[in-house]
Amino acid sequence: MKVCIVGAGLAGATAAFQLSKHGHQVEVFEVRTQIGGNCYDKLQNGVMVHQYGPHAFHTGNPVVWQFLNQFTRFNDVALRVWANTPLGMIPIPFNNQSAKLVGDMTPKMIRDLLFKDYSQKQWGVSWTELPKSIRNRVPLKRASFESYYHLDRYQGIPEKGYSEMFSAMLEGKSVHVGCKENDWRRYKWDHVIFTGSIDTYYGFCHGELPYRSLRFEYFPSLPRREVQINECNPWNSWTRSVDHSHWLRQKVRNTVISREYPCEFDGSNERFYPKPWDAALAQYAKYARLAQSDPKVTFVGRLGTYRYLDMDKTVAQTMAAMSRLIAGKKKQPDPLAS
Ligand code: UDP
Repeated sequence: MKVCIVGAGLAGATAAFQLSKHGHQVEVFEVRTQIGGNCYDKLQNGVMVHQYGPHAFHTGNPVVWQFLNQFTRFNDVALRVWANTPLGMIPIPFNNQSAKLVGDMTPKMIRDLLFKDYSQKQWGVSWTELPKSIRNRVPLKRASFESYYHLDRYQGIPEKGYSEMFSAMLEGKSVHVGCKENDWRRYKWDHVIFTGSIDTYYGFCHGELPYRSLRFEYFPSLPRREVQINECNPWNSWTRSVDHSHWLRQKVRNTVISREYPCEFDGSNERFYPKPWDAALAQYAKYARLAQSDPKVTFVGRLGTYRYLDMDKTVAQTMAAMSRLIAGKKKQPDPLAS
């Protein structure tokens, strides 16, 4: 088959590799001027900076882990996060060390301390209005001193950075960067893999899907500090800041620190987080039904399937969809389509 892949992020690169490995002719179209999607990293003042916010890879899925290990070795950097709270700095998720620092807390006290203000900034609504799918992402409490943010068996950062990993995934494929949004429509394809927002594919016929976006601020030449600090307080308007020198364990004297400010997606910024509230999910269901009845296009990834997917879930989802396509099987029904 002659397959067009729209987007050169994790979903697009996974699809391109899988399809090409099985003898299909792939061509990738990317509107940004570089590959790597939101995993894109580059050296800034000698520090490998994650350009779209922190991307600490973690998975419990050995298949995904093996898949990515074909393209890069991973170092063993695992994420530890501190929360800047009204009671002082404590590890998050709330663990035995946090309890030592501020006393033991009930789930309600933890919610108020760690989630209320941060979520208000992140989503623009109070914690109680968040859908369960978001609230359940971070554990309230750990009855141990375990201080890693994620507990997955496999964790790390590509040892030369994500951009190098993407170059290896897309090596030898035809990749166009800096494209106009609809350039790929000028040609005839046997199949399209679409990793952009599904509403754009269908010309917004059911309206625009809502997203949260982020704005970043960079501070070069600061002293090294903890890798990530979450601002679980009302006085700082950013949600988290990251010292990027930790990703590749760079022993620099001056590091680069970024701060993240959440905002609504308004068409002029980037789509980062789908907003999985009922109204948006009902709107997405209409698009998903269109997709279901269209055998010539497959939607994958966070934007294509309007799901708050972690990196490993994006790879797993794309691998599964490509296996079906390669085997000539029908698409798996999307549970959100009904
Ligand atoms: N969250 C919070 N306080 C924190 C960390 C997370 O309130 O210190 C909430 C917030 O609503 C956030 C969600 O938990 O959007 C998921 O957090 P995660 O760290 O998984 O966010 P991501 O890294 O995907 O942005």
